[in-house]
Amino acid sequence: MSEPGGAAVPRIPAEERARLLANPGFGKVFTDHMVTSSWTSGVGWDAAQLSAYGPLSLDPSTTVLHYGQAIFEGLKAFHQAGGGIATFRPGANARRFGRSAARMAMPQLPEETFVAAVEMLVRADQDWVPSGAERSLYVRPFMISTEAFLGVRPASRYQFLVIASPAGAYFPNGVAPVSVYISEDYVRAAPGGTGEAKAAGNYAASLLAQQQAADEGCDQVVWIDAVERSYVEEMGGMNLFFVRGSGSGAELVTPQLTGTLLAGVTRDSLITLARDAGYRVTERRFSVDEWRAGAEDGSLCETFACGTAAVITPVGQVKAKTGDFTIADGAAGPITMRLREELLDIQHGRVPDTRGWVHRIV
Ligand SMILES: *Cc1c(COP(=O)(O)O)cnc(C)c1O
Repeated sequence: MSEPGGAAVPRIPAEERARLLANPGFGKVFTDHMVTSSWTSGVGWDAAQLSAYGPLSLDPSTTVLHYGQAIFEGLKAFHQAGGGIATFRPGANARRFGRSAARMAMPQLPEETFVAAVEMLVRADQDWVPSGAERSLYVRPFMISTEAFLGVRPASRYQFLVIASPAGAYFPNGVAPVSVYISEDYVRAAPGGTGEAKAAGNYAASLLAQQQAADEGCDQVVWIDAVERSYVEEMGGMNLFFVRGSGSGAELVTPQLTGTLLAGVTRDSLITLARDAGYRVTERRFSVDEWRAGAEDGSLCETFACGTAAVITPVGQVKAKTGDFTIADGAAGPITMRLREELLDIQHGRVPDTRGWVHRIV
């Protein structure tokens, strides 16, 4: 990896940065730098470069613009309670990036190159990591095909990039449950498709359903399986958990990874945290009927979604063509909030990291 001297010149002056960091929102403001590396068939990857953040120049025939070979990742860097900056489980994102690349017929990026590129950017732009509760620097590694060619086949050139964006608290006014709309008109992923890959096209295909959910007065769309149209899969870009029973005897159910779900790093982390806290955690198919029946007879006490951006989002109201229902009293449940705090405490270094999840950068 090389860091050209010119890259040290900040793009945005310190006073302007302070103003932007006061209220960063999500995904609107970008740091001073980016990391890039190119792959050419027969040659492989060149050394990752740190450079000033700025536009790309692409030939109009560039394959990604036509056939959409594009994958991405999302992870966060956090100020640590004892000082310094760390990311959370970057190796898990690197492994998933490799699986996404394989599905989209894109080249493998060595996992250590992925992690080193994230480190390079976070170290260079460490002044952009916001401090304060629930604030972080959102890091977005991604890969696109860059060959200028309209023939349909895997491209012979790709670019890997890492950019970063300061993120404010997802719930600035306290954790609030969301309402969801079960999409019966559209599917996110079908067996044999690309649902398991973090591919840009999955998001393109999801936007109309999300718009429909909003038109129905809901915050988020919930996807059900493409074949039987019965089993819950995910909520927007987040995985789901259902809490049966309450207190120490509660059981957490999360939809099993059938190949059509995206395997979230947050999902995986919460399975571990919940088991270590003494809860039974089951990965299995979970139907809309079971969800509704449990909510109605009171045996299902909580539902929450999880992902890097929002960590944990409680689900309060469910709207479906087959009938609406409310989870418990519609408020965030105790197990939801406990797991949320536990994960945030680890990410922000407020409790010891006993699982090797916290990856110190500064
Ligand atoms: C990224 C993503 C998730 C959450 O994954 P995390 O690694 O926990 O951020 C869940 N579902 C979809 C469809 C996603 O793209």
